[in-house]
Amino acid sequence: KNMSVYNFAAGPAMLPASVINQIKSDLPSFNDSGMSVMEISHRSDLFEKIINEAKTNLLELLNLSDDYEVLFLQGGATTQFAAIPMNIAKTKHIGLVDTGHWSIRAQEEAKRAGIKVDTIASSKTDQYHNIPNVKQPQQDLDYIHLTTNNTIEGTAYNKLPNLTTPLVLDVSSNFLAQSYQFKNVDVIYGGAQKNIGIAGLTIVAVRKDLITENDLPGMWNFQILSKKNSMLNTPPVFAIYTANLVLKWLKNLGGVAEIEKRNRQKSGLLYDFLDNSKLFNNPVKKDSRSLTNIVFSTGNDELDNKFIEQAKENNLVNLKGHRLVGGMRASLYNAMPYEGAEALVDFLEKFERDNW
Ligand code: PMP
Repeated sequence: KNMSVYNFAAGPAMLPASVINQIKSDLPSFNDSGMSVMEISHRSDLFEKIINEAKTNLLELLNLSDDYEVLFLQGGATTQFAAIPMNIAKTKHIGLVDTGHWSIRAQEEAKRAGIKVDTIASSKTDQYHNIPNVKQPQQDLDYIHLTTNNTIEGTAYNKLPNLTTPLVLDVSSNFLAQSYQFKNVDVIYGGAQKNIGIAGLTIVAVRKDLITENDLPGMWNFQILSKKNSMLNTPPVFAIYTANLVLKWLKNLGGVAEIEKRNRQKSGLLYDFLDNSKLFNNPVKKDSRSLTNIVFSTGNDELDNKFIEQAKENNLVNLKGHRLVGGMRASLYNAMPYEGAEALVDFLEKFERDNW
């Protein structure tokens, strides 16, 4: 069996081949230390260098100044749904843009943390097939939570709304995949397991002036975590090391502008096929299309399953859609080469010829 596959999983997702190779060659003895990265102390100079490099690389790639602190945390983006409002929502009253499953999860967790959440825009009545236009709300809000890319529904903001209320952005599924003007943004956060490495690491870039004294327990407390350079407890050393390799890979490639160009080529190929297909269809409004998660189906569950099975036999794996929406989903994150999108479209064409 051919072990080389194109992995279209939504996360954990594929890593760049060169990063896997670097990990392989580093593994027995990192920097001639005689130890693998999995074995080194987080208090060592070796790791100190990695974490500080990763911070600098992230800020540079996001085009953020050092007005922002970068925290490397655990507990996933899901923990941050509550931790962010607990730390920075001074009046415990925030706005939320409802674009589907993950935005609702963010709302639920904030509410559990005692935060009042006003939905200020929603595309629910359109089954989340578009992203709603966000207008300046009249009420005073600490910030507005917005999911830049909706992993399950396959939608994305290609431009951020320009408001006087600051934004908090869940960028989990298009982290460094397309460029945004981060104007009036309090926090940018997301899990690393889609675009920046492996599971176990959550990245939070937060405006330094929002990090203030508070009573939260240490692992939830941005001030304490920041003072400890994200090392209040043992950090996920291997995940931070992997993230730094991915960040360096992206910098060498030309940064976010270059990867966005490539992501538009990959997703464009697939969307063009879907737009012209008689068998497959994509339900998302054109101006709301995600570059990273492309959803499609035949409208027939049996045929969808047959497609997913046969695609797998052809080394195109993890194309099953999220259980909430069914159908198929191709995640084309930064590490997916153009050839992967091409192989998928070739197979879609063949399947359509055989089944139409
Ligand atoms: N937000 C978005 C947009 C996501 O796609 C996900 C995970 N799929 C999450 C949040 C939750 O992330 P985690 O599993 O890291 O808690």
